[in-house]
Amino acid sequence: MDERIMYDRMTWPEAKERIPKAKAVIVSLGSVEEHGYHLPLCTDNVLGSTLAAGIAERTNSLLLPVMPFGQVWSTRDFPGSISLSEETMVRVLTDVALSLRHHGARNIIFHSGHMGNQSAMKAAARRLYDRYDMKNVWYFCYTDYVKLSEGIMEAPLWRGSGMHAAEIETSMMLAAAPEFCHMERAVSDYPEGCEEMNYRCMPWTEFTQTGALGDPTVSTAEKGRVYTEKLIEHMSDIINRLLE
Ligand SMILES: [Zn+2]
Repeated sequence: MDERIMYDRMTWPEAKERIPKAKAVIVSLGSVEEHGYHLPLCTDNVLGSTLAAGIAERTNSLLLPVMPFGQVWSTRDFPGSISLSEETMVRVLTDVALSLRHHGARNIIFHSGHMGNQSAMKAAARRLYDRYDMKNVWYFCYTDYVKLSEGIMEAPLWRGSGMHAAEIETSMMLAAAPEFCHMERAVSDYPEGCEEMNYRCMPWTEFTQTGALGDPTVSTAEKGRVYTEKLIEHMSDIINRLLE
């Protein structure tokens, strides 16, 4: 990783000069959350940081250190998960964005390695738009990840879109941090009878024992490398196309 993208390694005179010149400052989000029997609680922090660093390098942006806690309502009952309320997330994101505006950031990107943060990112962006007239706040989270997985991943996604601790995430972790993976403990799990979750809130402990949704057993580091690269390239292309 190019050290020069790291926001918090700058001195204040460097920050004064470089923040207004960067295309964007990336506010990196993750979570401390269960990821099945075989991946660690830090999975979203590792993957979110990896993706955000790749994006920062390709878009002339600065990267803040990952905010390690997220909104993990769905998995909060699994041992170890730490859950922030959406309101807390929105307030933190709003305050961080206002600080960045104060220091001259041209654009602010909320980037999450955890899907559960998406509604908080959008709510914060709306608040910044409405209360502070900020139209330069963007949000990205595994953008178009289903389409990008075609031709790389093999196992079906759970209910067409689920990937939690399954082939995609596990492959990415095998590429990014193999020392954290316990593949001998990985099991395939496609819970059924979850139609209710479309119509009411269901903590995942109501329908899965493993905490993995899909098949992590077919994951490989090579799939993870190719897929991670594709995701970074895709999100960077959008940012370079749309942001001034
Ligand atoms: Zn995850």
